Amino acid sequence: FFVSQEDINDSIVTIKGDDIKHIKNVLRLKENDKISVCDNQDNEYIVKLDNILNEEVTGTIIEEVDIRRESNINITLYQGFAKGSKMDMIIQKATELGVKRIVPIITDRAIVKINDKKKEDKKIDRFNKIAMEASKQSKRGTVPEVSNILSLDKAIKEIQENGSFTIVPYEDENQVGVKDFIKDVKNRDINIIIGPEGGFEETEISQLKSINSKIVSLGPRILRTETAGFTAIAIVMYELGD
Ligand code: SAM
Repeated sequence: FFVSQEDINDSIVTIKGDDIKHIKNVLRLKENDKISVCDNQDNEYIVKLDNILNEEVTGTIIEEVDIRRESNINITLYQGFAKGSKMDMIIQKATELGVKRIVPIITDRAIVKINDKKKEDKKIDRFNKIAMEASKQSKRGTVPEVSNILSLDKAIKEIQENGSFTIVPYEDENQVGVKDFIKDVKNRDINIIIGPEGGFEETEISQLKSINSKIVSLGPRILRTETAGFTAIAIVMYELGD
């Protein structure tokens, strides 16, 4: 279970919200049963349950787990908004692989058009719940944030401001790979930008080159948009040893 640091006082942990139902009705836990709790800062504890009430569950920390599961590479995945349930899968798997942030982006060839703020907010809420569930199942020490949807222009502006190393996998690039650039990474903050089903326009690639992004190949075969992100994340993690 994830709690915030404010929910841990001395060695007493308070769990609120939907997790109460999960503890009571799904897992059917009882007082004195043990659970694993994470403070979203990569600290994990074994907690013995003391009181299981309708409004809150409290327990006592009996052990601090001595494992750090978070990667020390901070990957932000800018993902071209994919259709149907693909985004759900992309968020779930990118979370398992250890990314720190996911930003859905709308590019020129996006099939999905988002023009209703309420619908967008609902989608982002759902994506954040998927990231939370995936973090729990992979026993991550933090939950990645799924940010609001950005246009490619706004994403580029954000990247220029944060100045992080940026990789753009592009199927028409067939010379250079991630490996050729990875030695240039100064700190461990890396952006990966993936196009949607229709890929990037050439003008978008020129725009991305102009902010000094590294345009890379992920191999000779064309990968689905949902496969490309996972592949790039895995290569970066492998190359940087995490
Ligand atoms: N039509 C397929 C689909 O429906 O998913 C393929 C989409 S591919 C054009 C989507 C994105 O994946 C591209 O914009 C690019 O970022 C990345 N990509 C796919 N294959 C790649 C490759 N071999 N090298 C580099 N990037 C690739």
